[in-house]
Amino acid sequence: MNEKTKTKVGDNTRLAHIGNDPHAFHGFVNPPVVHASTVLFPDAHTMATRNQKYTYGTRGTPTTDALASAMNELEGSAGTILVPSGLAAVTVPLLAFLSAGDHVLIVDSVYHPTRHFADTMLARLGVEVTYYDPLAGAGIAAVMQPNTKVVLTEAPGSGTFEMQDIPAIVEVAHHGGAVVMMDNTWATPLYFRPLDHGVDISIQAATKYPAGHSDVLLGTVSANEACWERLLDAHGALGVCAAPDDVYQVLRGLRTMGVRLERHQHSALTLARWLEGEKGVARVLHPGLESHPGHALWKRDFSGASGLFSIVLDGGREKEAHAFLDALQHFGLGYSWGGYESLAVHVQLNDRTVAHAPKEGPVIRLQIGLEDVADLQADLERALCAAAKA
Ligand SMILES: *Cc1c(COP(=O)(O)O)cnc(C)c1O
Repeated sequence: MNEKTKTKVGDNTRLAHIGNDPHAFHGFVNPPVVHASTVLFPDAHTMATRNQKYTYGTRGTPTTDALASAMNELEGSAGTILVPSGLAAVTVPLLAFLSAGDHVLIVDSVYHPTRHFADTMLARLGVEVTYYDPLAGAGIAAVMQPNTKVVLTEAPGSGTFEMQDIPAIVEVAHHGGAVVMMDNTWATPLYFRPLDHGVDISIQAATKYPAGHSDVLLGTVSANEACWERLLDAHGALGVCAAPDDVYQVLRGLRTMGVRLERHQHSALTLARWLEGEKGVARVLHPGLESHPGHALWKRDFSGASGLFSIVLDGGREKEAHAFLDALQHFGLGYSWGGYESLAVHVQLNDRTVAHAPKEGPVIRLQIGLEDVADLQADLERALCAAAKA
């Protein structure tokens, strides 16, 4: 952190200055992109004692330090590791804190590939997995076991946007001796700071809003003081370091993340409100709407909403969902959100064991990009019309 950012300032001011110190590198505004495997030592004694700041490419460079320190500022964390994808940002901390014979609690509305990892690799390594109701709150006490070592949260839930009572879950989990992790990709640390609410480890798919342009894969994992050493050890043991150009692109993306998110938020809420009154829409799943069952939690804990939400069509099945998607002209059909362009996808919810899928009709997830709202609204009108005719 440089001197200028130490006083309390607004998010956009912080984003403009965190993570680099121009005068440590000849005054250039941006940090260098260091491509490195080998780091040289000046003499044998320094080499034997590894007594210098950088020692090996996988263990950090000025480029990874710049992004990690920016993330520490945003998250309020003791340390941050950078990994090659958002999925690795989920799997690495789980591997760091779980051993054979342990039990992990995972929210049932979790990002699907996280479930796949738990059901295949964690199960094979002898870790017992239980999925819990996203609405459980302090009720997770009922599914805690003496060997529960990790409680994984994600709010709002993937595809269906259930809100979780994070402070209530943290209290119960800590009482039982478990570490609490949160996949906070939706809100980013600008709209929710997990560690401020007692979470131990904050996970972000930086692929999404931090990168912001659908061209980079990266994950960040930020830990509090108590969990940092163990997380860092696992990162070093696994060797899953991030590539320098990708790290640089995410640092670049962070500079504009605040203004992009404001636009995503405003456009998404405008369209969500309009969709609520449209024929053919049974429900809009957006925690920023007063009608959402998790709205009070969202208002209590979050300071904003990003651009991703779902709608439940009023009746129909796959045919109607496909007619909706195929009528779209500005929305692309694709998965990895957080970029500048709008996207739509038919959400598959047959993996849920506790949190059941909405019954009224197909669930369509929308990522509202940076385009003009009027054009997106016209596109959605066309799509609803096509679904009604299907
Ligand atoms: C996209 C996503 C991830 C994974 O990110 P990748 O970089 O695509 O691997 C993890 N968690 C959530 C909630 C996501 O939306």
